[in-house]
Amino acid sequence: MSADYQVQGDVAVITLNNPPVNGLGLATRLAFVDGLQKAMSDSQVKAVVVTGAGKAFSGGADIKEFGSPKATQEPNLLSLIAALDNAPKPVVAAIHSVAMGGGLELALGCHYRVAAPGCSVALPEVKIGLIPGAGGTQRLPRVLGVEVALNMIVSGEAIPSEKLASLPGQKLFDVMAASAQSLLDEAIAFARKVSDVRPLPRVRDLPCKHPLGDAYFQFARNMVKGMSKNFPASAQCVDAVEAATKKKFDEGMVFERERFINLMFTPECRALRHLFVAQRAASKIADVPDTTPSRNIAQVAIIGAGTMGGGIAMNFLNAGIPVKILEMKQDALDRGLATLRKNYEAQVGKGKLKSDVYQQRMSLLSTTLSYDDIAQADLVIEAVFEEIGVKEAVFKKLDQVMKPGAILASNTSTLDVNQIAGFTNRPQDVVGMHFFSPANVMKLLEVVRGVHTAKDVMATVMSVAKKIKKTAVVSGVCDGFIGNRMIEQYSRQAGFLLEEGCTPSQVDRAIEKFGFAMGPFRMGDLAGNDIGWAIRKRRYVEKPHLRYSKTADLLCEMGRYGQKTGAGWYDYHAGKRDAMPSKLVEDMIVKHRADLGISARKISDEEIVQRLVFSLVNEAAHILEEGIAAKASDIDVVYITGYGFPIHRGGPMLYADQFGLFNVVQAMNRFARNPHDDAQFWQPAPLLARCVAEGQTFNNVK
Ligand code: NAD
Repeated sequence: MSADYQVQGDVAVITLNNPPVNGLGLATRLAFVDGLQKAMSDSQVKAVVVTGAGKAFSGGADIKEFGSPKATQEPNLLSLIAALDNAPKPVVAAIHSVAMGGGLELALGCHYRVAAPGCSVALPEVKIGLIPGAGGTQRLPRVLGVEVALNMIVSGEAIPSEKLASLPGQKLFDVMAASAQSLLDEAIAFARKVSDVRPLPRVRDLPCKHPLGDAYFQFARNMVKGMSKNFPASAQCVDAVEAATKKKFDEGMVFERERFINLMFTPECRALRHLFVAQRAASKIADVPDTTPSRNIAQVAIIGAGTMGGGIAMNFLNAGIPVKILEMKQDALDRGLATLRKNYEAQVGKGKLKSDVYQQRMSLLSTTLSYDDIAQADLVIEAVFEEIGVKEAVFKKLDQVMKPGAILASNTSTLDVNQIAGFTNRPQDVVGMHFFSPANVMKLLEVVRGVHTAKDVMATVMSVAKKIKKTAVVSGVCDGFIGNRMIEQYSRQAGFLLEEGCTPSQVDRAIEKFGFAMGPFRMGDLAGNDIGWAIRKRRYVEKPHLRYSKTADLLCEMGRYGQKTGAGWYDYHAGKRDAMPSKLVEDMIVKHRADLGISARKISDEEIVQRLVFSLVNEAAHILEEGIAAKASDIDVVYITGYGFPIHRGGPMLYADQFGLFNVVQAMNRFARNPHDDAQFWQPAPLLARCVAEGQTFNNVK
């Protein structure tokens, strides 16, 4: 049973009860209809209150049913709401905490709504590539006015109930309860009060107009167009709300339904739904159940106040967790602190951060040059130079001074976390926390699990990640972990493309048109080409068999490290980020090509995109097979949140699944025949070959 039924005197109370957020799954819908029928046929009952158990009224559709036949099986949400429309007795929604998506649509189907303060109200369907599909676009404008409703529907953002209740003329809430605690009693009392009111008020019968009519919708369409280039749902939100103002209610409902169903089958919607589920799945570790105890993290220490250390510190300060930064020298600390302050002050300057909040955050920060001062920290994150000798010295020291049970994390991008753990006598407490730059902005956190990392350390770090608002994905130990190991292949392909005839801007343009936030060369200029140079010096000494294009090394030898030196793959005007094609670089590429004896050929955008994206995919298949990533969807989360992969394509693995793995392998076979490429690399990873042979996809392979 996932809705409870109870009668209190002459009022029936139906309580949605499907933890964690009373998702409207099939069992809940059946129980709701059953309760409603009981209430309607019981002559003692004069009115009904619908409420939710636990921490929500209802969060909407049950994500466990996503994509399964149960999601649409009768009674579906539309039938539930139709039953409310036809109910002969008043039904009052008692809303606390969360009313989202289908949950809000259900409430809008009730005759009255009583809400508690502090409740999050939203129609977030647009975030998964849909428009509301159970009357949200037709009913919300009738109770909140067209503009407020359309803003909510197009943004998908939650608005606090008290803010909505204060809007002049709103009809969303009939009563605001004094508190969540008194909500049910107040709703029952209200139901009693209105039990004799006839005819019953229905949202569907309210008028719906915008005073400016077509002009308003034209304006709204223009606004939405700029915001949502790859997402058709946003524009359709406008169409559906416009339909509410122009069509009869039932016709508007049909219009909304048709649009909803068409959107459901678009690749963009599939990608967004995939990511919605993938992000939640990424936080679960198969052998670390939710019940695993976690360690208390009340104080954090960070070693190194460089680019990463300062950014990492900001995450914890923002979450109200005290941080102590340790450096070798006072001037390094001063520099680090000045950068951190500058970052915060820029936010204050833009009005994004209140100055008292900034002061409060800074008051949680302290610095030191002595390890004795950090001994009591619960979590220490090392962000010193990427050299194993330096890491060794730091971890040996940490092992000596840190209190027992402290978690020792490394932010290394490429080094072996098991080796680092081996520098201590407590490898169970060592873990990788790989933040991305800028660490205070980028959402991704790769949590690198060493062979000895304890389960409670994993549980703790995953929960810390949530607190500091990061999307954590677990990676096993290997060179580059999930993200950088894949990007190495992508960078190699980008280099080969230059050797074979492309210019940097041609490659960047093609992949940016595909939807990447930034092509590989603009990205290199932003991050600093010298970083990759240092990594290559180490990596290709260790792997001399791996061929790569030397163009990037030649660029660095010219001193063109990127934006920080005012020149990289592109030229820049002083202090600007305006990447302009560089004659010098193009000449260098032409000369290098000639040295290699390669004649330039014209390369299509399609080939550029496929070589870059499928190089990610083939490496990812190895990563998945080796268990470095636990599931294909984790890899998609890494690429979307950390590497600017186009969201509307759902990540490299979903993209490959949708492209067809057979087609991917066909393309790879073509690339393998190119004498200037790396034929060995393009051999399909065993997992990819198996998926093709068995007709499987990455996302369903066992
Ligand atoms: P950085 O050079 O900007 O900063 C390193 C800081 O560590 C310097 O301030 C230095 O004074 C300090 N330091 C060096 N040795 C120390 C020691 N023994 N004790 C205390 N402090 C010491 O480097 P960064 O870019 O911040 O990188 C730090 C780590 O983060 C590296 O492991 C790097 O691979 C990793 N990382 C970097 C990026 C990035 O984009 N920069 C991204 C992810 C991870």
